[in-house]
Amino acid sequence: MAELFSRDPLHDPERSSVQGTEVKTTTCYMCACRCGIRVHLREGEVRYIDGNPEHPLNKGVICAKGSSGIMKQYSPARLTQPLLRKPGADRGVGEFEPISWERAFEILTERLGKIRATDPKKFALFTGRDQMQALTGLFARQFGTPNYAAHGGFCSVNMAAGMIYSVGGSFWEFGGPDLERAKLFVMIGTAEDHHSNPMKMALGKFKREGGRFISINPVRTGYSAIADEWIPIRPGTDGALFMALLHELIEADLIDRPFLQRFTNGPQLVVLDEGEREGLFAFDPDNGPPGDGRNPHNKLAWDTRSQTVVRAYPEGNEEGRELALEGHYQLADGTRVAPAFQLLRERVATTTPEWASAITGIPADRIRRLARELGETALHQAFELPIAWTDSWGKRHETTQGRPVAFHAMRGLAAHSNGFQTVRALAVIMSVLGTIDAPGGFRHKAPYPRHIVPNYRAFNDPAMVKPNTPLNAAPLGFPASPEELAVYADGTPLRIDHAFSWEHPLSAHGMMHNVITNAVRGDPYTVDTLMIFMANMAWNSTMNTMEVREKLNAKNEDGSHRIPFLVVCDAFQSEMVAYADLVLPDTTYLERHDVMSMLDRPISEFDGPVDSVRVPVLPPTGECRPFQEVLVELASRLKFPAFTQEDGSRKFKDYPDFVVNFQAQPGVGFLMGWRGKDGTEHLRGEPNPNQWEMYAKNNCVFQWHMPEDQQYMRNWNQPYLDFAKEKGWRQKNDPVQLAIYSDTLQSFRLAAQGKTQGRQPPDALRERVATYFDPLPFWYPPLENAAIDGERFPLSAITQRPMAMYHSWDSQNAWLRQIHSHNYLHVNSSTAQAAGIADGGWAWVESSWGKVRCMVRFSDAVEPGTVWTWNAIGKASGAWQLAPGADESRKGFLLNHLISEELPLGERRISNSDPITGQAGWYDVRVRLSPAEPEDEATSFPQVPTMPQTPGVLGGARKIISYFASKKS
Ligand code: SF4
Repeated sequence: MAELFSRDPLHDPERSSVQGTEVKTTTCYMCACRCGIRVHLREGEVRYIDGNPEHPLNKGVICAKGSSGIMKQYSPARLTQPLLRKPGADRGVGEFEPISWERAFEILTERLGKIRATDPKKFALFTGRDQMQALTGLFARQFGTPNYAAHGGFCSVNMAAGMIYSVGGSFWEFGGPDLERAKLFVMIGTAEDHHSNPMKMALGKFKREGGRFISINPVRTGYSAIADEWIPIRPGTDGALFMALLHELIEADLIDRPFLQRFTNGPQLVVLDEGEREGLFAFDPDNGPPGDGRNPHNKLAWDTRSQTVVRAYPEGNEEGRELALEGHYQLADGTRVAPAFQLLRERVATTTPEWASAITGIPADRIRRLARELGETALHQAFELPIAWTDSWGKRHETTQGRPVAFHAMRGLAAHSNGFQTVRALAVIMSVLGTIDAPGGFRHKAPYPRHIVPNYRAFNDPAMVKPNTPLNAAPLGFPASPEELAVYADGTPLRIDHAFSWEHPLSAHGMMHNVITNAVRGDPYTVDTLMIFMANMAWNSTMNTMEVREKLNAKNEDGSHRIPFLVVCDAFQSEMVAYADLVLPDTTYLERHDVMSMLDRPISEFDGPVDSVRVPVLPPTGECRPFQEVLVELASRLKFPAFTQEDGSRKFKDYPDFVVNFQAQPGVGFLMGWRGKDGTEHLRGEPNPNQWEMYAKNNCVFQWHMPEDQQYMRNWNQPYLDFAKEKGWRQKNDPVQLAIYSDTLQSFRLAAQGKTQGRQPPDALRERVATYFDPLPFWYPPLENAAIDGERFPLSAITQRPMAMYHSWDSQNAWLRQIHSHNYLHVNSSTAQAAGIADGGWAWVESSWGKVRCMVRFSDAVEPGTVWTWNAIGKASGAWQLAPGADESRKGFLLNHLISEELPLGERRISNSDPITGQAGWYDVRVRLSPAEPEDEATSFPQVPTMPQTPGVLGGARKIISYFASKKS
């Protein structure tokens, strides 16, 4: 036994634990929650990692993933040196030669320099679950390419956009349920481990204090296991449930009328007459141009007291007014109008519980009871906090109204092609109950709320893609009208992923999932260099995985690759690495500086902004370099204006120097704590050369508590809005009225109907845009349903992330693999038995697009029409330095093989995504089950050839084993 272990163990547990011991604080990155951690080192080696009790987010709590960071650090799959594909070697076979960093930079500088000097859009940068989009986005913008995005289009952009376009904020980093004061908590469409430690801590306290927790989900695992009640629902039907809840709430008048009148666009009058103003808000011509998503306040309302039309602002909110939410009216010129809320009322008139029951599988009576419970808790168990605040129209509210109904939702709603309108429907429910930024309801986190529509336009001018010239806007943003789309004059997409085109106009996070397919097809053009950071596009970050792998190696007739140069930056030997022409070895989170910035994705709390950093607690392994350093180096060598002094010398020594000294606007940088030359200013101030040291001395985190009277109702809390503008978190300080009705969506619909003079979609897309850009929420079946034979494929197949692993990062983690090294398909026992499949047996799962073979587990914690599994557990043989016969490849499997990244649209194909936001519809897939035949191999299908060992990979699995040895052999 002793020979099994290395003679050179990493640690000898019998040695003194005191000598040479030190503790360093930093921020976890074993998932995206970003808890504070303490890394305990002895003589430079990590002994263990625990939670930092002084960190505001996790208060010392750590999860299995977080404490297993040590095994990520010492993973045998670590890449350690830059690699260049050998001349003549095919992509995918992994034949590389090691090169120096200087050589890697020379190759990149020469290649990217030429692209930038000729046609910058031929460079595409797409990143996975990184947390530095303020830097990666800046790099793309300075390069001059619009072809940039992170992973959000694949993840949950429907959640972000659906909420932001409705209430100005969204769940998770941007806001969440106030479980401190909620009495009823409804979690819907949330995976078993989303929001991890912070959610678990809040939920535990909520339950201990007697809160009622209802989980609505096709699957009852994770959080749902401790719910007081589980309401199973069919995937992709949540929107129908929400529409029925709205029907019931409005019918029973269980709505917050004063809130709707003052704080939403519910009373604003919508034009009913046909024409170019049809469905838009009526306006006062003497008060400037008509309101729109950028300037939303020139609107009208009907005052029932005076029986006249008044300006919605400020007159509509004067004392003594009573704005109508219902009815039909005429303006002085005869124009027929109705309040937006009236149109919502009409919309939900037919969305009865019986109608929704047939779609969702939830009994109608249960829907009725749920609606009543929501409404009665919000309105009849309401409370007031003794916190006075002042709204945007100068009214002093002596108390703050609590509405103790909180929701949390995520990818279960988002990853469907009807997700945007579904999320809109949820946001409207939250609005009619008056829960937005109210105690006990949904609360924003700084820098949210944003303007509706946010004041961040995406780059959209083809003429501004110019050699050696930065873009005049960021590549990503929030379009407010057809004029802001990124299209050529004929409507052709400007971007390689087709984001912000007529195909997916509001694709605020880009569409990473379509880049490879489009680039290989040359649609709308080919690219020269595709740089991928931390995204496993050759495996679990794509739909239609096997074809994507072929596309990565696709060639022209002359033998050159369709995507001529592929750069992959990753810390581990993922499946994607084998396809690279150039591999850049990244560091782990323990080896680098990082920022969780207000310019990007901070870790703010409800009561104020919070940002944090990572600092290196270990030197880089081998020749690894942080990707941030690579970008700063490249930007300096390519002489991007923001990275270059007037005399042509580089502006920033390295990434830490960049973080300290870069200013997005005067006094506003990546970090908001300890600014000013001597570190005495916070939130805004001059750069501080010692800022990193100050973060390091303060647990790597900076927290700012807003005064109590600025912690709630921030959409309309004028002192807060003024403060937020002053600190650079927002561009305007005007109120953010909730969009019960979206005139922004209507502006796209009018264009599609040919009723406006401006930009119009290509004819092939007119009907699609006119259908889905409905200003009021509605439910429609997922788009895949129309492309397949529903009778042949009667089951929905979905995935979720396991508690113990975050994406594919942890499949090589020696500790976490002890928890699970392969996945099963979880099937309701009645469904499995009807298909003739035994518990633990092998089965075929087929969709219209592909098939997989996997092991089945019976589970009555899944509704009968759904099957599910964990994502990213299945691996290609040999990837991640797992042994070729490892469970992950022999028994593990991916549902991705069953999903198509495109659907037919007339004669052509279009992304299998939400038609509004471009969110990948990967939870829409429909499947059928059959037992595997006895002669079928007892391995998962499909299998791929074993990946060869990548040169320079750390290896050393035996060292890991020796970690567990009690002493040297
Ligand atoms: S919840 Fe996420 S960030 Fe927090 S300790 Fe666990 S893995 Fe780390």
